[in-house]
Amino acid sequence: MSKAKAYSAASATAPLAATTIQRRETTERDVQIEILFCGICHSDLHTVRNEWSSFMPTTYPCIPGHEIVGRVTRVGSAVTGFKPGDLVGVGCLVDSDHTCSQCRDGLEQFCHNATFTYNSPDKHLGGVTYGGYSESIVVDESFVLRIPANLDLAGAAPLLCAGITTYSPMRHWGVTAGKKVGVVGLGGLGHMGVKFARAFGAHVVVFTTSPSKKDDALRLGAHEVVISTNVDEMEQHAGTFDFILDTIAAEHDLNAYINLLARDGNITLVGAPEQPLPVAVFGLLFGRRSLSGSLIGGIAETQEMLDFCGQHGITADVEVIPIQRINDAYARMLKSDVKYRFSIDMASLKAE
Ligand code: NAP
Ligand code: ZN
Repeated sequence: MSKAKAYSAASATAPLAATTIQRRETTERDVQIEILFCGICHSDLHTVRNEWSSFMPTTYPCIPGHEIVGRVTRVGSAVTGFKPGDLVGVGCLVDSDHTCSQCRDGLEQFCHNATFTYNSPDKHLGGVTYGGYSESIVVDESFVLRIPANLDLAGAAPLLCAGITTYSPMRHWGVTAGKKVGVVGLGGLGHMGVKFARAFGAHVVVFTTSPSKKDDALRLGAHEVVISTNVDEMEQHAGTFDFILDTIAAEHDLNAYINLLARDGNITLVGAPEQPLPVAVFGLLFGRRSLSGSLIGGIAETQEMLDFCGQHGITADVEVIPIQRINDAYARMLKSDVKYRFSIDMASLKAE
């Protein structure tokens, strides 16, 4: 085992603080990674504050972080795809059973034995897995991704969660040229959704509660911006969308967006608010509209997304911070004040 500096939360109400953790020795299938950047996902905050307690209660200490970019420092004897020095990524998954129908279909995120990067039973060390707010991590090579050489590393880190979470449902629901696509909420996920929808050739409309984000939404690739609190602006788009991606992290009125869908339109939820959201069923019946969810994406599709980003020069717009500012970053995330993803420079951990 080796020691690694990290930042952890001791309880749902404690601020994150410096700590030291153990990482396992590299087994023959493992890749050991020095973490260079880690994005801050709203899921980190939901987990630290135990907001998903009814579905996935948090075990403390909790070390979040699942938007990891780093450099390979060591590989096990059976590893074939990576060598020391390679630039790699790790997202929300670090293992699965490799054998079930979900895994065979390349949808490891739905494997009943999937191991998530943090707060998931750790098969090697016991306890729970510890995520990317750390100096290093050891991961089975099947869950390690290659980062295209042309991408800025701080901006590439958020692709490992925010990127794949928005890319995957858009691919699944056929977002292509000629489709009218809505992206609800311009945060970490939302701004990636805008970039992908635009790159796929769709007509992109951003729905935001923050009028101050309007210019940024257009710069990021939106054709139109709707202030979602303005009922008249919303009404102008009634019945017109082929697809809407809802990234909101808090309670909100889903029905206002269902009513914007065209016949056979789909709204997919990727945001994961703590409380249930009421659905007025008639909004779905008329127009045969559908409501669905989506969870990150499988490993092969995550690599496909990274390669697509390499080809199109797509990264997240990031505010790079030292890890010592993590608690302030969480406070700003709760105020929707993120432009548009925090990326932690892990070199800052050396000062601890
Ligand atoms: P984020 O950066 O905080 O962005 C969320 C955005 O939602 C905010 O910037 C804000 O955009 C909008 N918003 C926030 N509170 C709102 C409210 N009360 N009413 C209306 N709009 C509100 O968060 P994120 O990292 O993108 O994550 C978004 C959600 O997706 C979280 O719940 C996270 O856990 C979840 N998630 C799911 C998956 C998955 O696989 N399904 C993966 C990653 C994250 P505006 O200022 O533009 O209104
Ligand atoms: Zn995430």
